[in-house]
Amino acid sequence: MTKAYNITEHKFDAIVVGAGGAGLRATMGLATKGLSTACITKVFPTRSHTVAAQGGMSASLGNMGEDDWRWHMYDTIKGSDWLGDQDAIEYMCREAVPSVIELEHYGVPFSRTEDGKIYQRPFGGMTTNFGEGTAQRTCAAADRTGHAILHTLYQQSLKHDASFFIEYFAIDLVMENGECKGVLAWNLADGTLHLFRGQAVILATGGYGRAYFSCTSAHTCTGDGNAMVLRAGLPLQDMEFVQFHPTGIYGAGCLITEGVRGEGGFLTNSKGERFMERYAPNAKDLASRDVVSRSMTIEIREGRGVGNEADHIHLHLEHLGADVINKRLPGIAESAEIFAGVDVAKEPIPVLPTVHYNMGGIPTNYHGEVVNKVGDNPDQVVPGLFAIGEAACVSVHGANRLGSNSLLDLIVFGRAVANRCAEIIKPGANQRELPEGILDRSLSDLDAARYANGSIPTAELRLEMQKVMQNNAAVFRTGEVLQEGCEKITATAAKMADLKVSDQSMVWNTDLVEALELRNLMDQAKVTMFSAENRKESRGAHAREDYPDRNDDEWMKHTLAYLNEQGKVEFDYRPVHMNTLTDECEVIPPKQRVY
Ligand SMILES: Cc1cc2nc3c(=O)[nH]c(=O)nc-3n(C[C@H](O)[C@H](O)[C@H](O)COP(=O)(O)OP(=O)(O)OC[C@H]3O[C@@H](n4cnc5c(N)ncnc54)[C@H](O)[C@@H]3O)c2cc1C
Repeated sequence: MTKAYNITEHKFDAIVVGAGGAGLRATMGLATKGLSTACITKVFPTRSHTVAAQGGMSASLGNMGEDDWRWHMYDTIKGSDWLGDQDAIEYMCREAVPSVIELEHYGVPFSRTEDGKIYQRPFGGMTTNFGEGTAQRTCAAADRTGHAILHTLYQQSLKHDASFFIEYFAIDLVMENGECKGVLAWNLADGTLHLFRGQAVILATGGYGRAYFSCTSAHTCTGDGNAMVLRAGLPLQDMEFVQFHPTGIYGAGCLITEGVRGEGGFLTNSKGERFMERYAPNAKDLASRDVVSRSMTIEIREGRGVGNEADHIHLHLEHLGADVINKRLPGIAESAEIFAGVDVAKEPIPVLPTVHYNMGGIPTNYHGEVVNKVGDNPDQVVPGLFAIGEAACVSVHGANRLGSNSLLDLIVFGRAVANRCAEIIKPGANQRELPEGILDRSLSDLDAARYANGSIPTAELRLEMQKVMQNNAAVFRTGEVLQEGCEKITATAAKMADLKVSDQSMVWNTDLVEALELRNLMDQAKVTMFSAENRKESRGAHAREDYPDRNDDEWMKHTLAYLNEQGKVEFDYRPVHMNTLTDECEVIPPKQRVY
């Protein structure tokens, strides 16, 4: 029962969907280059998940010791477990330096060294001299770097007259003959629908952590742009690579920093046993994130989890004493009290390995142009469509992202996309009328969700999906568990046909927003599960017990996953770019890594 909707049309040179770090850097860049720019965002810009980033942003400024972008490039390639595209990584690490300096000039209040330079802290995996020393490469604004960057970029975007459409929910891409022509969006405040026409559409919609039961990302991280791309018949890349952090608060998912275990905190199972002593006799609780997360998951799977459902683990700080806790870990004490109701001086914190970052996403080249494999060309550009930030897979993080390389990715490629658009777009160029009925499918999908009159509420089905992902596409993967996961997620996704949406209005209908977000999450959950089952090796964050080794002969390639008309996942592959952009650096050949 498709209802007639009045649709308001807008024309801009460029449309950015998303106002996190990536979206705002692109919006600002496009506006300063004289392109009329709209930025559409479902939350107020400074509430985007980027605001939660604490640690900082990497760049080889060398303010706190010798550094070189080639060392940064080496670390990033090694971190990616040789799945990252080396041309894109070279571009990111070289451009990091001018990108940070620009941010400073725009007004980001970075912390300072004694002599007034940008302060830089050490971070995991960041080395000097190709793995020899420890680099201090991560530029920080205290422990609020994301917050500082977002506020500065929003102010700069307003200064340069970008048009913001805030609390507008983008529903679908508007595609004509394989080219992107615009976006259909819903204004949540007054319930109206809007067609945004643009010569370029830039997706900066962030990650999809919420496909899992426990994640550190905001409730709004539902990967809407990724799902729009799947619905447009285009692929997502490397979706099997999901980064976990061992200690998210059970239920809430908020991050408990590694610093807690650094201060002497430890994990126990239901028998009160310090199980990390068994898995990593030397490093114990301070073994690498992957190892700790995997060990915790094995304990839970073997029935030694704590709690009523034996589905989490305890993190102890009680023995440290109130003094140490108040002095060194006050923020953690506060988070544990708010989100778990726990006094850390007296009781353990319930924790669970928690999804932290999505390496996979929309495949692009280093200009941010979306690419697809067409015939023999694995790098065919999709005209009019761009993707940046966590939504994109450039691929600079490959199979595993290094800490502080994501904020960098947002800024470098947000900037790159603006530069590219300025090269290929003529300001104010005519945009042809679209054919009748081009929005019909999106509108009937919207109606199907709006009038969904089945028996399962959105929250119930979402929880079912999240539990399947948490149990079957976790840190610990085997063929058997993944095959079961494929069956389970297919059965769960089929229940979308029986969804119940109770509110049919269009004004601030959060029931409908959540149903649309669930549809988006479900498609990505499916693609993630099937991609993980399909990749028969261990690489970076994808660790399979049944294929423990990396297999460069067969698997040094990017997975492309498509959803066909029947909702089935189909695969193709793109080669990893084992070439540099310039002759100022060398290709880093694959080496075995120790997990
Ligand atoms: C707790 C935490 C700490 C982190 N710390 C660090 C760190 O210290 N260093 C680091 O490098 N990385 C860190 N990361 C990772 C990094 O912060 C994220 O990868 C990054 O911020 C993602 O930015 P983004 O611009 O791609 O998307 P986001 O910041 O997630 O923004 C997405 C935007 O898209 C919009 N949007 C989404 N869907 C729609 C839709 N349908 N319609 C309209 N608008 C839509 C949203 O409104 C929002 O504006 C951290 C992540 C977390 C969760």
